[in-house]
Amino acid sequence: MPDPLLERLRRFHDDTFPSVQAQFESLVQEGQHPSILFIGCSDSRVVPYLLTGAGPGELFMVRNVGAFVPPYDGSAGFHGTSAAIEFAVLNLKVSRIVVCGHSHCGGIRALYEEQAPQAKNLKAWLDLGRDAALPVQVTPEALRRSEQRAVVLQLERLMGYPMVRAQVEAKAMTLHGWHYVIEEGEVHVFDVKSGQFVPASLASHSGDGPYPEHLSEPVFNEIDDAYAPLHHYTLVTP
Ligand SMILES: [Zn+2]
Repeated sequence: MPDPLLERLRRFHDDTFPSVQAQFESLVQEGQHPSILFIGCSDSRVVPYLLTGAGPGELFMVRNVGAFVPPYDGSAGFHGTSAAIEFAVLNLKVSRIVVCGHSHCGGIRALYEEQAPQAKNLKAWLDLGRDAALPVQVTPEALRRSEQRAVVLQLERLMGYPMVRAQVEAKAMTLHGWHYVIEEGEVHVFDVKSGQFVPASLASHSGDGPYPEHLSEPVFNEIDDAYAPLHHYTLVTP
């Protein structure tokens, strides 16, 4: 009986690889120099290369349930995501970090549901999104807002990484909070100044903060109180 996955591997080697072989050989000889760390959800419908038009060598990627960022303190065990952040910033010296949540996220929905008793790691992991959940009935709108709040929460945790904060404060790095609406094919970009997610078709940037000059007064309370509980530091419109 043919193994369809094996067939795909052979097809890649025989049909696809020859057209990109030179590119990969160059990436091996010169090493990788991606400028973007992409932190995305594991969801199979999120395809970062399609979204960004990126090719080989352009995205350093880490994906997990919910696109969550663990706190920097390293107190809760082995964190592949934290290690990837440190490697991307300190070794690869990326200049952008994208946190990409998305619509219909099972990780965010799971915040509102009981998990199987055996799912010990999943239950612990979901704690990284708890603050994004709202004390309301689960509705599509509540889930959408929770998905977006979770992105902001992860951006804030990123700022807890000293090497990230240093680069952001030096304006050598931008943080990009994205919410990808799968069924519309549109990324909504978090705008630090307004505290809102703006469709890419209307946005003036793909994410540019947070920068220190925005970090002085609460803005979320005024603009969208749904985000208010998330703020360890504060943001202000210049
Ligand atoms: Zn997801």
